[in-house]
Amino acid sequence: SIVWMNGAFIDRSEAKVDIEDRGYQFGDGIYEVIRVYNGQLFTANEHLERLLGSGDKLSIQIGYSVEEFKGLLEQLIEKNNLETGIVYMQVTRGVNSRNHAFPAEDTPPTYIAYTKEVARPTEQLDNGVTAITVEDIRWSRCDIKSLNLLGNVIAKQKATEADCYESIQYRDLTVTEGSSSNIWIIKDNAVKTHEANQFILNGITRQKIIELCQGNDIEVVEAAFTIEDLIDADEVFLSSTTAEVMPIISINNVPVGSGEIGPVARKLQQLFQDAIERECNQ
Ligand code: PMP
Repeated sequence: SIVWMNGAFIDRSEAKVDIEDRGYQFGDGIYEVIRVYNGQLFTANEHLERLLGSGDKLSIQIGYSVEEFKGLLEQLIEKNNLETGIVYMQVTRGVNSRNHAFPAEDTPPTYIAYTKEVARPTEQLDNGVTAITVEDIRWSRCDIKSLNLLGNVIAKQKATEADCYESIQYRDLTVTEGSSSNIWIIKDNAVKTHEANQFILNGITRQKIIELCQGNDIEVVEAAFTIEDLIDADEVFLSSTTAEVMPIISINNVPVGSGEIGPVARKLQQLFQDAIERECNQ
């Protein structure tokens, strides 16, 4: 396949990372995953703006604008004939003799982007998935989409070992987010998800769902909720770029609500599907 690295389109086998790249040694970098439907980027501006925002928060000087990145990613999609899948892109603080402190300001970042075929998870969207709860052991800048994913990796591994799809993390009594998703509850037809602060990643899918709720008379609240609220919810779902609006049908082996996927999650799935069709001419 063809990948994009540091300004050039090259064969994947030619793409090499230095052993002293700061992404490799420190996880000192940021990334994005953008959905591609029908050969077209979905919510690309939002993802690329978040990438530039993560760069700002970490003082990584990104030398491309949203428009420039978008043009490059469109070329990459075309070169790889991608129809349905994702673009993965990351930017690290570059290569420097190992030292925790930042390298000189003129050190160029390391950029990569590549595509991958990823089908929509239709079976799981139809039938729902299972989850467990785990303590959130991560740092307090989860708003930055950084390469430092060890807390998330450990949380996802726990879910995998429990034969579940996702881990729902909690800090003290508050539900924060999944290992790679945002978490939502529905009680008496009102939709709730953790507010966008430093304890969660403000998902692009999350923002799209909020917009869809507001445009369709569905009550939506951005506020912390407790584990007790989670257990007591009528419906629970998770959201992410690859998983879209994914119903959760059991948590810690206990059925959610009636045990069936609820009407609000179904409605949001439909609204999300409509948005994909609208924005990607499907
Ligand atoms: N939270 C975390 C920790 C994630 O890794 C992701 C997936 N990137 C999300 C939330 C969902 O974000 P998005 O909808 O932008 O994919």
